[in-house]
Amino acid sequence: MNKQLAEFQEHLLKSKKIVALVGAGLSASSGLPVFRGSQGMWKNYNSIDLATPDAFYIDPGLVWQFYSWRRYSALQAKPNKGHEALAKLSHIPELKYLTISQNVDGLLNRKRNDELDDTYIHDPRKLYEIHGSLFTLKCTSFMCNHVERNNFHQPLTPVLEDTEFEYLNKGKKRSREDEGSVQEQNIDPIDIISRQDTFASTSSSPQFQPVKTIDEKNLPRCPICEGLMRPGVVWFGESLPLDLITGIDNFIEHGEAPDLILVIGTSGTVYPANSYVERVKLKGGKVAIFNIDIDDDVVEGKVDRVWGFKGDAAELLPLALEPLIGKI
Ligand SMILES: [Zn+2]
Repeated sequence: MNKQLAEFQEHLLKSKKIVALVGAGLSASSGLPVFRGSQGMWKNYNSIDLATPDAFYIDPGLVWQFYSWRRYSALQAKPNKGHEALAKLSHIPELKYLTISQNVDGLLNRKRNDELDDTYIHDPRKLYEIHGSLFTLKCTSFMCNHVERNNFHQPLTPVLEDTEFEYLNKGKKRSREDEGSVQEQNIDPIDIISRQDTFASTSSSPQFQPVKTIDEKNLPRCPICEGLMRPGVVWFGESLPLDLITGIDNFIEHGEAPDLILVIGTSGTVYPANSYVERVKLKGGKVAIFNIDIDDDVVEGKVDRVWGFKGDAAELLPLALEPLIGKI
Protein backbone atom coordinates (compact mmCIF):
# COMPACT_ATOMS: atom_id res chain seq x y z
CA MET A 1 0.00 0.00 0.00
CA ASN A 2 2.71 2.51 0.96
CA LYS A 3 4.85 1.73 -2.07
CA GLN A 4 1.77 2.02 -4.28
CA LEU A 5 0.77 5.27 -2.64
CA ALA A 6 4.24 6.75 -3.12
CA GLU A 7 4.20 5.75 -6.80
CA PHE A 8 0.71 7.15 -7.26
CA GLN A 9 1.56 10.47 -5.63
CA GLU A 10 4.70 10.85 -7.71
CA HIS A 11 2.60 10.39 -10.85
CA LEU A 12 -0.12 12.66 -9.49
CA LEU A 13 2.28 15.55 -9.08
CA LYS A 14 3.45 15.19 -12.68
CA SER A 15 -0.09 14.94 -14.09
CA LYS A 16 -1.41 17.81 -16.18
CA LYS A 17 -4.74 16.30 -17.16
CA ILE A 18 -6.88 14.16 -14.86
CA VAL A 19 -10.31 12.55 -15.13
CA ALA A 20 -12.25 11.28 -12.11
CA LEU A 21 -15.06 8.79 -12.38
CA VAL A 22 -17.35 8.74 -9.36
CA GLY A 23 -19.90 6.16 -8.20
CA ALA A 24 -22.17 5.49 -5.23
CA GLY A 25 -19.33 4.31 -2.97
CA LEU A 26 -18.15 7.90 -2.54
CA SER A 27 -21.43 8.89 -0.90
CA ALA A 28 -21.88 5.74 1.16
CA SER A 29 -20.00 7.12 4.14
CA SER A 30 -22.13 10.27 4.02
CA GLY A 31 -24.90 8.01 5.27
CA LEU A 32 -26.97 7.92 2.11
CA PRO A 33 -29.20 4.85 1.90
CA VAL A 34 -28.02 4.02 -1.63
CA PHE A 35 -29.26 0.46 -1.46
CA ARG A 36 -32.81 1.69 -1.11
CA GLY A 37 -32.81 4.54 -3.57
CA SER A 38 -31.38 2.59 -6.46
CA GLN A 39 -33.12 -0.75 -6.32
CA GLY A 40 -35.22 -1.01 -3.20
CA MET A 41 -38.83 -0.50 -2.41
CA TRP A 42 -40.50 2.78 -1.57
CA LYS A 43 -43.74 2.24 0.31
CA ASN A 44 -45.41 -0.48 -1.74
CA TYR A 45 -43.70 0.49 -4.98
CA ASN A 46 -40.63 -0.86 -6.64
CA SER A 47 -38.32 2.15 -7.08
CA ILE A 48 -37.44 1.03 -10.59
CA ASP A 49 -41.09 1.24 -11.63
CA LEU A 50 -41.24 4.87 -10.48
CA ALA A 51 -38.04 5.97 -12.21
CA THR A 52 -39.43 5.86 -15.74
CA PRO A 53 -40.93 8.40 -18.15
CA ASP A 54 -44.10 6.27 -18.29
CA ALA A 55 -44.65 6.40 -14.54
CA PHE A 56 -44.31 10.18 -14.62
CA TYR A 57 -46.68 10.47 -17.57
CA ILE A 58 -49.32 8.33 -15.83
CA ASP A 59 -49.05 9.88 -12.35
CA PRO A 60 -46.60 12.78 -11.96
CA GLY A 61 -47.88 13.38 -8.41
CA LEU A 62 -46.85 9.88 -7.33
CA VAL A 63 -43.42 10.16 -8.93
CA TRP A 64 -42.86 13.61 -7.40
CA GLN A 65 -43.71 12.22 -3.94
CA PHE A 66 -41.06 9.54 -4.44
CA TYR A 67 -38.49 12.14 -5.53
CA SER A 68 -39.44 14.50 -2.74
CA TRP A 69 -38.56 11.70 -0.33
CA ARG A 70 -35.27 11.02 -2.14
CA ARG A 71 -34.37 14.73 -2.14
CA TYR A 72 -35.15 14.93 1.56
CA SER A 73 -32.99 11.84 2.29
CA ALA A 74 -30.10 13.24 0.25
CA LEU A 75 -30.35 16.58 2.06
CA GLN A 76 -29.98 14.80 5.40
CA ALA A 77 -26.56 13.58 4.22
CA LYS A 78 -23.52 15.83 4.29
CA PRO A 79 -20.64 15.94 1.80
CA ASN A 80 -17.63 14.04 3.13
CA LYS A 81 -13.90 14.64 2.71
CA GLY A 82 -13.89 12.60 -0.49
CA HIS A 83 -16.34 15.03 -2.09
CA GLU A 84 -14.26 17.90 -0.78
CA ALA A 85 -11.05 16.45 -2.19
CA LEU A 86 -12.58 16.37 -5.68
CA ALA A 87 -13.92 19.91 -5.26
CA LYS A 88 -10.42 21.08 -4.33
CA LEU A 89 -9.00 19.30 -7.38
CA SER A 90 -11.51 21.09 -9.63
CA HIS A 91 -10.23 24.48 -8.42
CA ILE A 92 -6.55 23.97 -9.27
CA PRO A 93 -6.18 26.49 -12.12
CA GLU A 94 -3.27 24.88 -13.98
CA LEU A 95 -4.80 21.39 -13.97
CA LYS A 96 -7.02 20.20 -16.81
CA TYR A 97 -9.65 18.33 -14.91
CA LEU A 98 -13.08 16.69 -15.20
CA THR A 99 -15.29 14.76 -12.77
CA ILE A 100 -17.73 12.30 -14.32
CA SER A 101 -20.28 11.52 -11.60
CA GLN A 102 -22.81 8.71 -11.74
CA ASN A 103 -24.41 9.92 -8.51
CA VAL A 104 -27.61 11.96 -8.38
CA ASP A 105 -27.26 13.00 -4.72
CA GLY A 106 -25.90 16.53 -5.34
CA LEU A 107 -23.23 16.10 -2.65
CA LEU A 108 -20.46 17.53 -4.84
CA ASN A 109 -22.50 20.74 -5.14
CA ARG A 110 -22.96 21.40 -1.46
CA LYS A 111 -20.75 22.39 1.49
CA ARG A 112 -20.51 20.48 4.76
CA ASN A 113 -21.13 23.75 6.56
CA ASP A 114 -21.50 27.43 5.64
CA GLU A 115 -18.18 28.44 7.16
CA LEU A 116 -16.21 26.63 4.47
CA ASP A 117 -15.16 28.66 1.43
CA ASP A 118 -16.35 27.96 -2.10
CA THR A 119 -13.38 25.77 -3.00
CA TYR A 120 -15.26 23.09 -1.04
CA ILE A 121 -17.92 23.08 -3.77
CA HIS A 122 -17.00 21.46 -7.07
CA ASP A 123 -16.44 23.82 -10.01
CA PRO A 124 -19.72 23.28 -11.93
CA ARG A 125 -17.96 23.66 -15.28
CA LYS A 126 -15.80 20.63 -14.51
CA LEU A 127 -18.57 18.41 -13.13
CA TYR A 128 -20.51 16.16 -15.49
CA GLU A 129 -23.39 14.45 -13.70
CA ILE A 130 -24.18 11.88 -16.37
CA HIS A 131 -27.20 10.45 -14.52
CA GLY A 132 -28.53 13.92 -13.70
CA SER A 133 -29.29 15.16 -10.21
CA LEU A 134 -32.13 15.00 -7.71
CA PHE A 135 -31.63 18.77 -7.42
CA THR A 136 -32.04 19.55 -11.09
CA LEU A 137 -35.52 20.29 -12.38
CA LYS A 138 -36.43 20.17 -16.04
CA CYS A 139 -39.43 21.63 -17.82
CA THR A 140 -41.45 18.94 -19.61
CA SER A 141 -42.67 21.33 -22.28
CA PHE A 142 -40.93 20.39 -25.51
CA MET A 143 -40.90 24.01 -26.68
CA CYS A 144 -39.31 25.28 -23.47
CA ASN A 145 -36.89 22.70 -21.97
CA HIS A 146 -35.93 25.10 -19.16
CA VAL A 147 -33.45 23.53 -16.72
CA GLU A 148 -32.97 24.63 -13.13
CA ARG A 149 -29.83 23.35 -11.38
CA ASN A 150 -28.96 23.02 -7.70
CA ASN A 151 -32.43 23.75 -6.42
CA PHE A 152 -32.06 22.59 -2.80
CA HIS A 153 -35.36 24.08 -1.70
CA GLN A 154 -37.37 21.59 0.30
CA PRO A 155 -40.26 20.95 -0.01
CA LEU A 156 -40.47 22.12 -3.60
CA THR A 157 -44.14 22.99 -3.27
CA PRO A 158 -46.42 23.11 -0.20
CA VAL A 159 -48.32 20.01 -1.24
CA LEU A 160 -45.11 17.94 -1.17
CA GLU A 161 -44.33 18.91 2.41
CA ASP A 162 -45.48 15.87 4.36
CA THR A 163 -44.61 13.48 1.53
CA GLU A 164 -40.91 13.75 2.38
CA PHE A 165 -41.24 11.01 4.91
CA GLU A 166 -41.64 7.41 3.91
CA TYR A 167 -43.14 6.44 7.23
CA LEU A 168 -45.55 8.17 9.53
CA ASN A 169 -43.48 9.93 12.14
CA LYS A 170 -43.98 7.58 15.04
CA GLY A 171 -41.40 9.47 17.07
CA LYS A 172 -43.59 12.53 17.00
CA LYS A 173 -46.63 10.65 18.20
CA ARG A 174 -44.76 8.89 20.93
CA SER A 175 -43.24 12.09 22.25
CA ARG A 176 -46.69 13.64 22.49
CA GLU A 177 -47.81 10.76 24.66
CA ASP A 178 -44.67 10.93 26.70
CA GLU A 179 -44.23 14.64 27.25
CA GLY A 180 -40.82 14.33 28.82
CA SER A 181 -38.90 13.24 25.72
CA VAL A 182 -38.65 16.37 23.63
CA GLN A 183 -35.64 15.09 21.68
CA GLU A 184 -37.80 12.43 20.11
CA GLN A 185 -39.84 14.99 18.22
CA ASN A 186 -37.74 15.19 15.08
CA ILE A 187 -36.78 11.62 14.43
CA ASP A 188 -35.15 11.22 11.09
CA PRO A 189 -36.99 8.85 8.73
CA ILE A 190 -33.74 7.05 7.96
CA ASP A 191 -33.34 6.46 11.65
CA ILE A 192 -36.81 4.98 11.73
CA ILE A 193 -35.95 2.69 8.83
CA SER A 194 -32.90 1.47 10.67
CA ARG A 195 -35.09 0.73 13.67
CA GLN A 196 -37.44 -1.40 11.63
CA ASP A 197 -36.28 -4.50 13.48
CA THR A 198 -37.11 -2.94 16.80
CA PHE A 199 -40.57 -2.08 15.59
CA ALA A 200 -41.08 -5.56 14.21
CA SER A 201 -40.03 -7.24 17.42
CA THR A 202 -42.53 -5.20 19.40
CA SER A 203 -45.16 -6.04 16.76
CA SER A 204 -45.80 -2.40 15.86
CA SER A 205 -44.29 -2.11 12.40
CA PRO A 206 -44.03 1.44 11.00
CA GLN A 207 -46.92 2.72 8.96
CA PHE A 208 -46.33 4.21 5.53
CA GLN A 209 -47.14 7.85 5.09
CA PRO A 210 -50.10 7.46 2.70
CA VAL A 211 -49.53 8.36 -0.96
CA LYS A 212 -51.55 11.43 -1.90
CA THR A 213 -53.40 12.17 -5.10
CA ILE A 214 -51.93 15.48 -6.20
CA ASP A 215 -53.32 17.81 -8.82
CA GLU A 216 -50.67 18.62 -11.45
CA LYS A 217 -51.06 22.34 -10.88
CA ASN A 218 -49.73 21.91 -7.32
CA LEU A 219 -46.54 20.21 -8.50
CA PRO A 220 -43.35 22.15 -9.37
CA ARG A 221 -44.06 24.45 -12.34
CA CYS A 222 -41.68 26.05 -14.82
CA PRO A 223 -40.81 29.69 -13.98
CA ILE A 224 -40.63 30.46 -17.72
CA CYS A 225 -43.67 28.76 -19.31
CA GLU A 226 -45.56 27.41 -16.26
CA GLY A 227 -45.32 23.90 -17.69
CA LEU A 228 -44.89 20.88 -15.43
CA MET A 229 -41.34 20.38 -14.12
CA ARG A 230 -39.87 16.88 -13.73
CA PRO A 231 -36.91 15.58 -11.74
CA GLY A 232 -33.69 16.11 -13.71
CA VAL A 233 -32.46 12.56 -13.38
CA VAL A 234 -31.92 10.08 -16.17
CA TRP A 235 -34.72 7.53 -15.95
CA PHE A 236 -34.73 3.91 -17.04
CA GLY A 237 -35.25 3.81 -20.78
CA GLU A 238 -33.71 7.25 -21.30
CA SER A 239 -30.32 7.83 -22.87
CA LEU A 240 -27.46 9.61 -21.13
CA PRO A 241 -27.37 13.34 -21.94
CA LEU A 242 -25.68 13.70 -25.32
CA ASP A 243 -24.07 17.07 -24.55
CA LEU A 244 -22.28 15.62 -21.52
CA ILE A 245 -21.18 12.45 -23.29
CA THR A 246 -19.82 14.55 -26.17
CA GLY A 247 -18.07 16.86 -23.70
CA ILE A 248 -16.37 13.90 -22.01
CA ASP A 249 -15.34 12.45 -25.38
CA ASN A 250 -13.79 15.76 -26.36
CA PHE A 251 -11.95 16.06 -23.06
CA ILE A 252 -10.44 12.60 -23.34
CA GLU A 253 -9.77 12.53 -27.08
CA HIS A 254 -8.66 16.07 -27.86
CA GLY A 255 -5.54 17.95 -26.82
CA GLU A 256 -3.00 16.21 -24.65
CA ALA A 257 -3.82 12.72 -23.41
CA PRO A 258 -5.07 12.32 -19.83
CA ASP A 259 -2.27 11.29 -17.48
CA LEU A 260 -4.57 9.72 -14.93
CA ILE A 261 -8.10 8.50 -14.31
CA LEU A 262 -9.33 8.21 -10.73
CA VAL A 263 -12.02 5.56 -10.31
CA ILE A 264 -13.82 6.34 -7.06
CA GLY A 265 -16.50 4.39 -5.24
CA THR A 266 -17.29 2.26 -8.25
CA SER A 267 -15.81 -0.88 -9.70
CA GLY A 268 -15.35 0.86 -13.03
CA THR A 269 -16.35 -2.31 -14.81
CA VAL A 270 -19.80 -1.28 -16.00
CA TYR A 271 -20.57 0.85 -19.06
CA PRO A 272 -19.90 3.70 -19.59
CA ALA A 273 -17.38 3.74 -16.72
CA ASN A 274 -15.32 0.88 -18.15
CA SER A 275 -15.06 2.53 -21.55
CA TYR A 276 -13.55 5.69 -20.04
CA VAL A 277 -11.01 3.67 -18.08
CA GLU A 278 -10.01 1.72 -21.16
CA ARG A 279 -9.69 4.84 -23.30
CA VAL A 280 -7.49 6.66 -20.80
CA LYS A 281 -5.27 3.55 -20.60
CA LEU A 282 -5.17 3.29 -24.36
CA LYS A 283 -3.89 6.84 -24.55
CA GLY A 284 -1.10 6.00 -22.13
CA GLY A 285 -2.70 7.24 -18.90
CA LYS A 286 -2.69 5.44 -15.57
CA VAL A 287 -5.58 4.29 -13.40
CA ALA A 288 -6.09 4.64 -9.64
CA ILE A 289 -9.06 2.86 -8.06
CA PHE A 290 -10.45 3.86 -4.65
CA ASN A 291 -13.15 1.42 -3.62
CA ILE A 292 -14.29 -1.04 -0.96
CA ASP A 293 -14.16 -3.82 -3.49
CA ILE A 294 -11.12 -4.24 -5.77
CA ASP A 295 -9.58 -7.32 -7.38
CA ASP A 296 -6.69 -8.73 -5.34
CA ASP A 297 -4.33 -8.56 -8.33
CA VAL A 298 -4.90 -4.82 -8.58
CA VAL A 299 -4.42 -4.24 -4.85
CA GLU A 300 -1.19 -6.23 -4.95
CA GLY A 301 0.12 -4.07 -7.80
CA LYS A 302 0.14 -6.92 -10.33
CA VAL A 303 -1.92 -5.13 -12.99
CA ASP A 304 0.06 -2.90 -15.31
CA ARG A 305 -0.55 0.84 -14.85
CA VAL A 306 -3.36 0.34 -12.31
CA TRP A 307 -3.16 1.21 -8.62
CA GLY A 308 -5.81 -0.07 -6.25
CA PHE A 309 -6.54 1.50 -2.88
CA LYS A 310 -9.02 -0.64 -1.05
CA GLY A 311 -11.26 0.92 1.58
CA ASP A 312 -13.58 3.87 2.14
CA ALA A 313 -13.02 6.34 -0.70
CA ALA A 314 -14.05 9.21 1.57
CA GLU A 315 -11.04 8.48 3.77
CA LEU A 316 -8.49 7.29 1.20
CA LEU A 317 -8.99 9.97 -1.44
CA PRO A 318 -8.09 13.08 0.63
CA LEU A 319 -4.93 11.35 1.85
CA ALA A 320 -3.88 10.18 -1.59
CA LEU A 321 -4.50 13.60 -3.18
CA GLU A 322 -2.91 15.58 -0.35
CA PRO A 323 0.31 16.49 -2.23
CA LEU A 324 -1.85 18.32 -4.78
CA ILE A 325 -4.78 19.70 -2.76
CA GLY A 326 -3.26 20.15 0.67
CA LYS A 327 -4.71 18.88 3.91
CA ILE A 328 -8.47 18.85 4.27
ZN1 LIG B 1 -40.95 25.71 -19.33
